[in-house]
Amino acid sequence: MSDDRDQALRDQIGYLGQAPFYRRRFAELGVDPARVRTVADLDDLPIFLTPPEHRRLQDASLAADGHPFGDFLCADVRDVVSVSSTSGTTGTPILYASTAADVALTDESWARAFRFMGMAPGDGVVVGFGLSMYLAGVPLIRALERAGMRTVPVGAESGTGKLLRMLALMRPRVLACTPSYAEHLIERAPEVLGRSAASLGIEILLCAGEPGAGLPAVRDKLAEGWGGARVHDILGGVHGVINVSCDATDYQGMHVLAPDLCVTTQLVDPTTKAGIPTEDGAIGERVKTALRWQAAPPFRYSVGDVYQVFTDPCPCGRPGERIKVIGRVDDLLIVKGVKVYPSAVKDVAASLVPDLAGEIRIVLDRQPPRVVPPLRVTVEAGQGIPPERHPELAARFADAMHHRLSIRPAVTIVPAGTFERSAHKTRLLEVTGR
Ligand SMILES: [Zn+2]
Repeated sequence: MSDDRDQALRDQIGYLGQAPFYRRRFAELGVDPARVRTVADLDDLPIFLTPPEHRRLQDASLAADGHPFGDFLCADVRDVVSVSSTSGTTGTPILYASTAADVALTDESWARAFRFMGMAPGDGVVVGFGLSMYLAGVPLIRALERAGMRTVPVGAESGTGKLLRMLALMRPRVLACTPSYAEHLIERAPEVLGRSAASLGIEILLCAGEPGAGLPAVRDKLAEGWGGARVHDILGGVHGVINVSCDATDYQGMHVLAPDLCVTTQLVDPTTKAGIPTEDGAIGERVKTALRWQAAPPFRYSVGDVYQVFTDPCPCGRPGERIKVIGRVDDLLIVKGVKVYPSAVKDVAASLVPDLAGEIRIVLDRQPPRVVPPLRVTVEAGQGIPPERHPELAARFADAMHHRLSIRPAVTIVPAGTFERSAHKTRLLEVTGR
């Protein structure tokens, strides 16, 4: 397999030469493309492209060439048959162009995810994601139909009532939606249908669009509400990236299902950008390189996500690498030389549920990453925990942080329900000054 990957990489690099951006960028960075022979050689290369630069390229090509795909588009713009984007952040959306071959490759990567989850042609699937250009929107519908699923694209925009009634009518084996929407449907089912979500016969929950559905606590809660359905978290859907969570109790992130289509486990240090070996447990900024993409292939592209990579066999028994999303490079904190990710601090709080609620905020008096110790963490107590127990919980949390993350924080305990809850990615950092 590594020989196939190396050959695919060499072919892809040869093909990149069609794009002015890549010709320029290899020269600028002093990298001779002919000397990149293997996937392992990529480890020594700098980052070629990031979202701010991608947006700049989009603006420039719109002005110069009349299309917004940047001059790293390798294919003829008339061969672009599909455009998607991430639900991402503010500002100009980052566009992903696909040729017909890319669409086929995306369908194939989704098909692997369906098989991994135990789905089979003929299965009924009700889709409750927004029917958008986002990766789990229209592109997912297309892939489901191609894979032979009985696809019912209800869409989140139809509203909770309609979606629940369609579930009762279609009796699908699979429900596809965000984890927060799946949770909302559990709450609404009795009033809308007069019966529980657990009684609807859903066997598989296909979750995406928000992080966390693979985490055991979230997974168990959704499984219970949906009558024992298996819950899978999916990340990917473009460039040959597709990762799916398994049901291991000792959760090690999502299985990488298409290492032959895209290199997605290479890491660099978030501050120095030096390569980090892909070893079991390694943490770093993920740098992605497509191996078989046609339209505008990412090569050493970082979107600023921090992953942990696992290479030893998974506790679920399946081989292959896994990736766990740790956070964003922008959220990295450095406390006395120790790198700390807010999500890791939240994990420590989650390990002390039910004495703690599992919710935290990190309070900074200036922009990250450097933190003058101690790191200040505000932690919610669990439901019904009396204030007189707060000092003891603060000490336990500080000990657990010291044990697991090698830093000792200053802890403030607040009552359960103090922090605002959000269905979307919650900010764990509060910066009080500049
Ligand atoms: Zn596994």
